[in-house]
Amino acid sequence: MAKAKIINATPHPIVVRTDAGNIIFPTSDLLARVSVKETRTGDINGIPCVAQTLGNVEGLPNASWACPSCGAESQDPMGGSCDCNAPYERIHYIVSAMVRNASVRDDLIAPDTGKTCIRDEQGRIQAVTQFIN
Ligand SMILES: [Zn+2]
Repeated sequence: MAKAKIINATPHPIVVRTDAGNIIFPTSDLLARVSVKETRTGDINGIPCVAQTLGNVEGLPNASWACPSCGAESQDPMGGSCDCNAPYERIHYIVSAMVRNASVRDDLIAPDTGKTCIRDEQGRIQAVTQFIN
């Protein structure tokens, strides 16, 4: 089975727990980020409240595809210059939920840190079990 390429564009390693064991996505040289504009909306009981507007997502390449055999990358879904004769697979980028929400791209996936993730006794996330796409 051809495997799609998944690149971690968050600042920390991502661990996904599956029935077959953990899959670890180390950090990469990509860091997806989104600017957040805050507007003061008032206060409640003296505690400041703001509205947030998400800006453009930065730090990601354009949509890309990769050869499942040799790893050659291309921004053309029909493939690049390799001779493997294998259909190129979409490259997916792991980003934070906030980045994913700020983008209309369909190649961004976020670790699901909701009720399906696995936490230690202190509540720190040890692994996720699924992505949000
Ligand atoms: Zn190839």
